[in-house]
Amino acid sequence: MSIDISPKRQAADADQHQLAAFGGPVTVPPELRKLPWPVITDADRAAVLETLDAGALVSNVDGRTAVQDLEELWAARTQVPAVVATSNGTTALALALSALGIGPGDEVIVPDLSFIASGLAAVHQMAVPVFADIDPRTFTLDPAAAEAATTPRTAAILPVHLHGQPADMDAIGAVAARHGLAVVEDAAQAHGAEWQGRPVGGLGDAGAFSLQVTKNLPTCGEGGLIAFRDAGVAERARSIGQFGEVVKAGTPRGYVSHELGWNHKMNVVQAAFTRSQLNRFDAYLQARHANVTAFLDRLDVLPGIQVPRPAHHSTHAWHILRFRFDPAAAGLDVPAAGFRRALHRLLRSEGVPLSRYQLMPMSRQPVFTERRGFGDGYPWRAGHPPPEPRTPVAAAVIDDSLTLQLRHLNPGAGPALQCYADAFDKVWEHLPTVAAMAASADR
Ligand SMILES: *Cc1c(COP(=O)(O)O)cnc(C)c1O
Repeated sequence: MSIDISPKRQAADADQHQLAAFGGPVTVPPELRKLPWPVITDADRAAVLETLDAGALVSNVDGRTAVQDLEELWAARTQVPAVVATSNGTTALALALSALGIGPGDEVIVPDLSFIASGLAAVHQMAVPVFADIDPRTFTLDPAAAEAATTPRTAAILPVHLHGQPADMDAIGAVAARHGLAVVEDAAQAHGAEWQGRPVGGLGDAGAFSLQVTKNLPTCGEGGLIAFRDAGVAERARSIGQFGEVVKAGTPRGYVSHELGWNHKMNVVQAAFTRSQLNRFDAYLQARHANVTAFLDRLDVLPGIQVPRPAHHSTHAWHILRFRFDPAAAGLDVPAAGFRRALHRLLRSEGVPLSRYQLMPMSRQPVFTERRGFGDGYPWRAGHPPPEPRTPVAAAVIDDSLTLQLRHLNPGAGPALQCYADAFDKVWEHLPTVAAMAASADR
């Protein structure tokens, strides 16, 4: 076999390595950029159709529905005495706070990097969210920052197991114990993750999960679950979520509201779909772990990328993969945000579906800076003004990182992720070009 080293072949080789943004071939073919999530099987379809024929289409009927099944299955998984199903993850958080008695005059400590619902839930209870900084590697609430944010008005800490990484529940639990605070876990992104071998959601007083269609345990729309450590608090939540009525199985509905309630219930179709998904949940979790770990191992050797790794004593649910980029570690003297912008442009051109997750720390969202709550600035007006948030780590992480969402959730995503790693390798062969783009003023 002779090796073809004709000038024409050399030019073709060079072309292969050219960046897609500058006319080279696109590394990731279109079919590997979109992988379906959720995966919907005939079993899921049958489960939904069965509920339509079974007659009971709401959960507050006498007798068993898929909602009670799902609550019991999730209680067993999270190792708690009771789970209450809700209409979505946001109502799950609000209902958890409400059942624990968090209300006007109270402050709730929330990490400054999360989905907006983590902060809104406190305001829905007329409580004031106080934003604290995050850890630069796990992206979860920094326990020292949480401790520093406590005041005599603090009533609860709301750690978020962001992207599937459990927050440091030992240290947060210790802060809560020292100050007599409730702990409500936001586990919307972390179904199946464990801290010290125990499932998240069952570690605090309450743990709220979202079943929104893009989450790791999805329904065919919107849904939520709350795990409660205390069965009495769970009953209180069930009552508040059912118009404030006292709910007793086997007893006719009384139509008497004993306190301010809402209608936060889950519907039966959503529950049947998730109950069916739960049969494959562990297999998907395992496949995802293998696919993601092999992908991260390849990115880890490239200089200037901080890949997510499960913190000590924890397992990661890999809901979102967040990469921080450090130009100095890559040998480049350019600003971090410029480096991130250049990488975003080049990797997207190669077909890697990277995106940003959160464009600002939560405390900078207009709803909080302009205090658009109830009436004329409540709940903030009612009490002490919360301290100005100082959360430089959250701001830096948002500035210098990109995320991969949804694509890697599919259990068959392994080959796609390997192809994404090829694209990273290619871009890393062109670091001088990346540096030139990063240094230029164009955004
Ligand atoms: C999705 C999410 C929520 C809200 O859940 P919904 O079901 O969409 O209301 C809350 N917190 C976090 C961290 C989330 O990712």
